[in-house]
This record gives sequence, structure tokens and C-alpha cells, in this order.
Amino acid sequence: MEKVKLTAKDYKTKIPIVWCPGCGDFGVLAAIHQAVADLAIPPEKLGVVSGIGCSSRIAGYINAYGFNSIHGRPLPIATGAKVANPELTMLVAGGDGDGYSIGMGHFVHAIRRNPDLTYIVMDNRIYGLTKGQVSPTTPEGDVTKTTPSGNPERPLNPLALALELGATYIAQGFSGNVKHLKELIKKGIEHKGFSLINVLSPCVTFRGKQEYDYVRQHGVYLDELGDYDPSDWNKAHEATQWRDKLPIGVIYHVHGRKTLGDEIAEVQAKARAKKVYKDVRELIDTFR
Ligand code: SF4
Repeated sequence: MEKVKLTAKDYKTKIPIVWCPGCGDFGVLAAIHQAVADLAIPPEKLGVVSGIGCSSRIAGYINAYGFNSIHGRPLPIATGAKVANPELTMLVAGGDGDGYSIGMGHFVHAIRRNPDLTYIVMDNRIYGLTKGQVSPTTPEGDVTKTTPSGNPERPLNPLALALELGATYIAQGFSGNVKHLKELIKKGIEHKGFSLINVLSPCVTFRGKQEYDYVRQHGVYLDELGDYDPSDWNKAHEATQWRDKLPIGVIYHVHGRKTLGDEIAEVQAKARAKKVYKDVRELIDTFR
């Protein structure tokens, strides 16, 4: 049977998009639509779980099994969905406030467990939906609604944290470069295991249009450096520590780590082979 060719249009929904004109999240949405079309993932084999925030509305804008879940919790929900149905390609989406503040515990444990998920964080360095409060990635000194005299705290470095925790696919994209971001998302989906794609996605309303200029001026495309090797942990570590430059591209990528699904399948096979309990009743009886 001839394979049906899918296009980005097949992944659009009729739900009206309510983001502010110029919001960076439009670029992320376009990159996701194009990436899943290029990979020919049928909508019925695609799951999208998001948290809460402007960017988390994205689950409604992708023709897939979508779940706009609860604040900071999309990772465990997506992990459960993937374990229950390993056939699904699972995308997880949210913002820096959702993922790197209330969701930080889940971020750490998702990397530890290594489920086969692609986590796309739209990092705009502010809380947009709740009208402009300081977020975990807001730069030190920046004025926000809740830091009118400047942010006294150092921002979180999610790329360095993910690297330290053992993530095996870490990338950073820019929503102003959809073509490049699409390729990062495709690689993340194809990677076996947990993938983090931190996307610099400007909030034009609460941080201004100049955020696009900032990324264009400070972004360094790693694949244009010539000697950058994403399988080199030390090089990746160096890139995550840059002060006045923003690494854009695949920062770290290695293969071979078992996924949570692999580990569960192994444990199940061992348990079956051992036949520890004849049936579930016998197991329940051990707790009496
Ligand atoms: Fe985008 Fe900011 Fe508007 Fe939210 S408030 S939709 S993040 S521009």
C-alpha cells in the first residue's frame, strides 16, 4: 500500500491560537508541525503533553493525542503514557516557569529514568501567562513585575544541569530560526531516550521584541564552528558555561543508554522467567 505523505497542515488544529502577535511560540509550533510531518508520524501515533502557561497551550494546536495537563507535571504524565503505550511518539512541552520551577523535581527524575520522550521547553525567561513575573531563567538584574529594582537571583542553567544529570540528547534552539529548530526536534524524536530541547522563544509582551535581537547577536551555531563534537562531554560542558554567547544546536548527543521502557521490559522478562508468584493473589498475601 502506498504510504500517505503527511504535511505540516495535517498536524494543525482548528483551535484559535491566542498567543500575542510576535510571540516566539509560533515558531516552535511551526517547527513541531514540520518535524512530525517530515518524520511521517501519523497523528494517531503522536502524543503531546504540556503543563500550564502560555506555551503549554501548544497541546491544543497539534493534531495528536493532546493533554494540556497541570502545572509542572507534564513529564510524569507523559512518562506514564509512554510506558503504557510504547508505540506512541511522545512530545512534552512547556515553559521555563512550568518546567524549571514547579516542575524541577520531575525534570531531575525524568533524566534519571530516561523515558523515551522529547521535552521541548519554550524558554522566554519570564512568566508570561500570569503577566510578567520573574522566572528561574530570568537574568540577574533584570526588571520584571516582581523584581522592580532588578532580579537579585542568578538564573538557572538548564543545559548544564541536564548534562550533569546524565541526559544523552541536549540541544538549544531559537524560535526565530524555524528551519534549524525543526532539525533539532527531529533529532530529538529519533533519539532513543530522554531528549531536552531548550528553545529561546521570546515573550514580546513582557520582555520586548529586542529579545529576538539579543539571541541573533549572541547566538553561536555550534555546527558552524567546525571543530565542535557533540559527543564530547567536556566540549558540551564548556558550551553550557559560556557567559556572553548562547550555544545553538546539538550541545550533547550520545547513544547507548537504556531507556526506561527497556529497563521495564527486562525486569518483566526476569520476573516471568523466575515465576516468583503464581498469580497476583500470592503477591498480595505477602503483605498480610
Ligand atoms: Fe507569548 Fe508572552 Fe504573549 Fe505569553 S504573554 S503569548 S509568552 S508574548
